[in-house]
Amino acid sequence: MLRRTMAEFDVKAGLQHVLKRIDEVLLQRPKEVQAARPLLVAVSKTKPAEAVIEAYEGGQRDFGENYVQELEEKSRHPDILAKCPDIRWHFIGHMQSNKINKILSVPNLHMIQTVDSEKLATKLDAAWSKRQPTPEEPLQVLIQINTSGEDVKSGIEAKDAPALYQYIKSNLKHLNLMGIMTIGAFGFDYSNGPNPDFVSLMQVHRSICEAHSLAPDSVLVSMGMSNDFDKAIEMGSTVVRVGSSIFGHRAAKV
Ligand SMILES: *Cc1c(COP(=O)(O)O)cnc(C)c1O
Repeated sequence: MLRRTMAEFDVKAGLQHVLKRIDEVLLQRPKEVQAARPLLVAVSKTKPAEAVIEAYEGGQRDFGENYVQELEEKSRHPDILAKCPDIRWHFIGHMQSNKINKILSVPNLHMIQTVDSEKLATKLDAAWSKRQPTPEEPLQVLIQINTSGEDVKSGIEAKDAPALYQYIKSNLKHLNLMGIMTIGAFGFDYSNGPNPDFVSLMQVHRSICEAHSLAPDSVLVSMGMSNDFDKAIEMGSTVVRVGSSIFGHRAAKV
């Protein structure tokens, strides 16, 4: 699965290009948008360990994967373990309860971005608390919101997200709820104005911040991928998940 199947892509150049674009957008972002500098998560799905190491050597530390088996394999790859000691893995794929323990045993697991129900959050909380040796820190998570309302997408509906936020904050002490995330509909035509998925996620962000008297920049907003991370940052995204612009196109998943 991790074999290189296409022409070599200059990962370091791809990474530099994305970082430069982030800097440019930050200079143009409207002053009203109160948000921190976005964290770049390099999405390495379908790409081999060498590509991850290349980006790491270019200074990248945060990496995202959305298939459990691939995350398990890559995070334990001997070359990655040896050469990328400070790597931080983000799980950005659909969560299934029966895969929780596999995900939690990933070395250098940093964050799970796709928590979308009370049930799943409760199971995660319990599973993290039972790990041996007992983890020193609560597990960092984001709530995934299905802003586009498509049946095929996972994520909680936007209207139900503030209640889930409240539930996790008040009941699940082994989780550190850092913010919210959306994938959104593909192929939005930006000549039609702002992306409604981003508008919707920012509305959820605002209501959570107001309900909990939180500063806007203290709740992470994960939105934006290769084709629209710049648009997302302009609207207040603080985590962008970028794959193909860093690593090159992916072969279709078979
Ligand atoms: C694949 C993927 C990305 C990155 O997509 P690109 O278009 O290659 O940048 C971001 N987020 C999630 C959840 C993904 O599955």
